[in-house]
Amino acid sequence: AKSEGRNSARFFTSDMNARASERLRLETELRHALERGELSLHFQPRIDMASGTTARFEALLRWRSAELGEQLPDRFIPVAEETGLIVPIGAWVIEEACRQLALWRAAGHTALGISVNLSALQLRDAELLGTIASSLRRHQLGPGSLELEVTESVLMEQVEPHLRLLTALRELGVRLSIDDFGTGYSSLNYLSQFPIDELKIDRSFVRGRMLEGGRDLAIVRAIIGLARSLGLKVVAEGVETAGEAATLRTAGCDELQGFHYARPMPADAAGQWLREARQ
Ligand code: C2E
Ligand code: CA
Ligand code: CA
Ligand code: CA
Repeated sequence: AKSEGRNSARFFTSDMNARASERLRLETELRHALERGELSLHFQPRIDMASGTTARFEALLRWRSAELGEQLPDRFIPVAEETGLIVPIGAWVIEEACRQLALWRAAGHTALGISVNLSALQLRDAELLGTIASSLRRHQLGPGSLELEVTESVLMEQVEPHLRLLTALRELGVRLSIDDFGTGYSSLNYLSQFPIDELKIDRSFVRGRMLEGGRDLAIVRAIIGLARSLGLKVVAEGVETAGEAATLRTAGCDELQGFHYARPMPADAAGQWLREARQ
């Protein structure tokens, strides 16, 4: 039994070593991803329930590493956050999303908007406001064009500095959406403190059991009621079936997003999507 214990300890250690060196490789490659042009954005439509058209796209980061192959955001975003690389990468995402939106608008989709995900570290970056202002100006994007998706926990980190930054962003016409709503912080205080425009119901409430009319549906309805009474827009993500879409629409969601409508797609396919829908 004693030698068995030693063996499993050794196995555990080499497993941890393997993971650490894999992590290091990811980090090393990620440091060069921007300059090597390995990053791109995919776009997933958000459908406006009132008009049936695409209200905006959510921009989602993709990384095709020459060395490591295609990497998923859930794997490399945490590394980008831990290393601080998310700041320059995030600035690139904002500029690229604005550039692409301006192209679509110029092609006739004049009411289209874009949403970009923002990490905590970016909100602490003194240059964020300037980055966003110059991207909006460069691409001549007016109020409401750009929306930032942040999670509840991100906002609760530092109330005062965030409040100042978000108020300044609001003055630029940038919208603020609370992503993964209902999964994070249990306090709702921040809803009255921050200049929020929208709640985005997390995928975990939308999936499966919601259709059976149980607690998930009750939570969805409560979030919609909360959003309504605060004058906020409410969006649901992760909508995979026609049944889910019908339930969420009836419950009063303003916009829906998910595989039921479209998967995230590269810019050319997203442009095609806009043209085919004649939006
Ligand atoms: P998120 O912001 O909650 O984005 C939604 C995720 O759900 C996306 O995964 C999207 O592809 C996926 N999704 C959309 N519809 C459905 C559906 O119907 N069913 C299912 N099962 N999944 C659906 P993705 O693209 O892998 O991104 C994962 C996460 O990575 C995002 O979650 C976001 O937190 C983060 N992320 C992505 N791009 C960026 C970025 O540019 N900056 C930052 N800071 N984070 C990003
Ligand atoms: Ca998001
Ligand atoms: Ca989300
Ligand atoms: Ca998420």
